Amino acid sequence: MSNIIDGKHVAKVLRENIKTETAELLEKAGKAPNLTVVIVGENPASQSYVRSKKKFAIEVGFESDTIELPESITEAQLLAQIEKLNADPNVNGILVQLPLPTHINEQTVIRTIAVEKDVDGFHPEQVGGLSIGLDTLEPCTPAGIIELLKYYNIETSGKNAVVIGRSNIVGKPIASMLLKLNATVTITHSRTANLPAVASGADILVVAIGKPHFLTGDMVKDGAVVIDVGINRTKEGKLVGDVDFESASKKASYITPVPGGVGPMTIAMLLANTLKAFKKQSNL
Ligand code: NDP
Repeated sequence: MSNIIDGKHVAKVLRENIKTETAELLEKAGKAPNLTVVIVGENPASQSYVRSKKKFAIEVGFESDTIELPESITEAQLLAQIEKLNADPNVNGILVQLPLPTHINEQTVIRTIAVEKDVDGFHPEQVGGLSIGLDTLEPCTPAGIIELLKYYNIETSGKNAVVIGRSNIVGKPIASMLLKLNATVTITHSRTANLPAVASGADILVVAIGKPHFLTGDMVKDGAVVIDVGINRTKEGKLVGDVDFESASKKASYITPVPGGVGPMTIAMLLANTLKAFKKQSNL
């Protein structure tokens, strides 16, 4: 039976550290980081994510504003709003909640956010920086995975890491981060031939595809570390990951549950990025 990686606990520890540092900075500099979240339209899932982001930002002592814009807003109007936030010295982190309505080009929006305020880490300049090993604001979910590995003292150097999924927000950045930590990384996707054979050679498996219970125990090497990024809702309304926890946990040495594994780390890393952006902008 594996050790369970408790993301809820690690995220709480991280938020407590951020809260302590924020209080110290407030004392020293007289100001706290500001995270401003922009939401377009009324997607209930997005609204719920935005509420959580604000709640946790306030909890650690940040200032946090939410700008709610109607679904009908034009791309030009949204870009103008972002430019205003870019120019506002009181705003340290800008996050535009995705997805956006289809008449707005997401890449154009991401590219308009000032690089130093891009706390989601999606700007092409940050992505490029990450791939050449610069100190950037890293995308929150993969950065959260690295925090989990570090917290549990899981060795990455020299290990075979297999990433399943090649999205820009999880698969590709986690591959870059594991490579930076000296793992030997293989990225797999929907066209990978004989994926079970590739997966079963992994010491570290990161699964981010959005397919419930895709990775089963027979694809896991004895003692491997299994990180499940997937968030899927069953017909009964239950949250399940991309990993079949029951069978995979019989083989893995460490495994993340869903919920309570990678999920809670994402917002914690958003707060960490906002604090980092604030310190850099304020020369602290
Ligand atoms: P995307 O839909 O953007 O990408 C999915 C990737 O999985 C693609 O690269 C696709 O391959 C690959 N894939 C799909 N089916 C298979 C298959 N049968 N075999 C191998 N590869 C496959 O997903 P995201 O990265 O955005 O999200 C993945 C999961 O992680 C989702 O469940 C999402 O909800 C969750 N998630 C969780 C977060 C958290 O905070 N915990 C944050 C972000 C995502 P191809 O490129 O060939 O199409």
